[in-house]
Amino acid sequence: MNQPRRPFRINVGFLINQPIGFSREIAFSFEQYHFQNDGKTEDLSGTITLIRTQTGVEAVMDFSALVDAQCVRCLEDFKQPLHTTFQELYTFSQEPISEEDEESIPEDGYLDFEGTIHDYIFLEYPIKPLCKPDCRGLCIVCGQNLNAAACEHAGQK
Ligand SMILES: [Zn+2]
Ligand SMILES: [Zn+2]
Repeated sequence: MNQPRRPFRINVGFLINQPIGFSREIAFSFEQYHFQNDGKTEDLSGTITLIRTQTGVEAVMDFSALVDAQCVRCLEDFKQPLHTTFQELYTFSQEPISEEDEESIPEDGYLDFEGTIHDYIFLEYPIKPLCKPDCRGLCIVCGQNLNAAACEHAGQK
């Protein structure tokens, strides 16, 4: 499936006429998805749940994806799974909002969640990616990948 243009741009304007607590879930699934600000993912899937609040919309987002990574121990490339859950508040009020951490919903009703999803999902990227939790790494003497086979230096310090 080709990547659609701006699939995360959603019209939330219809919610203004819905009762508080009304919710709608939108599901997404892409074999590959390349974020505009340069994040390549595979198997990107998740949901955006839009909930009518007193003043606007709460968007609850739950996304997972696989991204390219290199193991810090054995230096093999692997697919790092990432998962994030977060929520954001948006208000129908066009008044400037001072203290609350809310964004205004534009008059056309469209919100584009792409940048937010990108940022949150890549926040989950580990500082030290490991191909598996018990990766045995490389032999410091001969460089043998110890996940694949032992070498003669096993047990030496
Ligand atoms: Zn590894
Ligand atoms: Zn060795």
